[in-house]
Amino acid sequence: MKLSAPKGTKDILPSESYVWQFMEDKAKFIFDKSNYKEIRTPIFEATELFARGVGNSTDIVNKEMYTFIQKERSLTLRPENTAGVVRAFIEHGMFKLPSPLKMWYKGPMFRYERPQAGRQRQFHQIGVEVFGIKSAIADAEVIQMAMWYLNELKISKLSLEINNLGCEKCREEHKNKIKEAVKPILAEFCEDCNIRYERNSLRMLDCKNEKCKQLLASTEIDAIINDDYICPECSDHFIELQGYLKALNIEYTINKRLVRGLDYYNKTVFEITSNALGSQNAVCGGGRYDPLVEMLGGPSTPAVGWAMGMERLLSLMELPKEENLQVFIVSNYMNETIKIASELRISGICTDYDLGNRGFSKQLDKAAKSGAKYALIIGEEELKTGNLTLKNLLSGIQKKFDKNELILKFCNKKN
Ligand SMILES: [Zn+2]
Ligand SMILES: [Zn+2]
Repeated sequence: MKLSAPKGTKDILPSESYVWQFMEDKAKFIFDKSNYKEIRTPIFEATELFARGVGNSTDIVNKEMYTFIQKERSLTLRPENTAGVVRAFIEHGMFKLPSPLKMWYKGPMFRYERPQAGRQRQFHQIGVEVFGIKSAIADAEVIQMAMWYLNELKISKLSLEINNLGCEKCREEHKNKIKEAVKPILAEFCEDCNIRYERNSLRMLDCKNEKCKQLLASTEIDAIINDDYICPECSDHFIELQGYLKALNIEYTINKRLVRGLDYYNKTVFEITSNALGSQNAVCGGGRYDPLVEMLGGPSTPAVGWAMGMERLLSLMELPKEENLQVFIVSNYMNETIKIASELRISGICTDYDLGNRGFSKQLDKAAKSGAKYALIIGEEELKTGNLTLKNLLSGIQKKFDKNELILKFCNKKN
């Protein structure tokens, strides 16, 4: 039998891993500068965590989880990371720490879905969570970081949509009004919407089915969707958020149909899309989930965050050039070569040489193709004089250095 990676999974090969590292480095830089700390939670958790923390009415929990039984305990590969972060937040009593708690994560997630472009069964997410801040300034801060990151990756044609779902009080009223309006024509909606009608009518608003979209566009239902239903507190929160976004010069549009897939979102929800490939692609989704910590057994703690799918980012971003190798040693004196290579490496200079010890001209060829900026030539003459020849592989210019000079040159100039 020929073995291959399971359907919906992908090897990240040595020739492409630098792109992933680039994405991770950019993210880490932004999180560091914003004073967010990384959290790493297990890849599997008790199934119950996701049933409660993602929601029993979601497709994720109903259809897409990888669940297995081990010694009579039901465990699940994480389909997302917010539930795990909240579980850790409660378990380690982080709510007792000075607030806010600002965290980020990255890693593989698992959902059993039909694999398609940009969507894998094992996929990777990067995300942030802020705990302990009720004010919309936290919402604005995480949105700013998301926009910053997407700009750093040079993902073009970005647009930010925001909405306010209201709190438990005002949202219930809104849900019921939508239910009332939809009720007479409910049978015309898709099967999923009929389930959503019972469980969470708001989620009918972002149904992708064309028929459902048309039905919702009817003037009467549309008027209810666009009605200003939110209570004064939620309304203030939304105005506050928009004030911060304006202060940050971040453009946005309000989309009253933006609800996001998860039931525990409240107040702010947002989505960033890119039109870089000619059609709208969501690259970041997030929002406020104030009820979740309490739902999972912790003390009431406001929270807001977002997540991005890295495969999607990869398909939209401008690929960086791989720039790593600085020096390729060309020599048939292997004792000298291995010694100098190790010295340069220890000094922090990325160095390689031909482990196969091929002929001199073949090695020069290899150096040119290696992506290194310089070839370091150690021939008979260099061995005698102790002066090494450094050849700039772009310009062809050669210069002689003794070894210590060489190390200084690289360490001072950093190129
Ligand atoms: Zn409210
Ligand atoms: Zn529908």
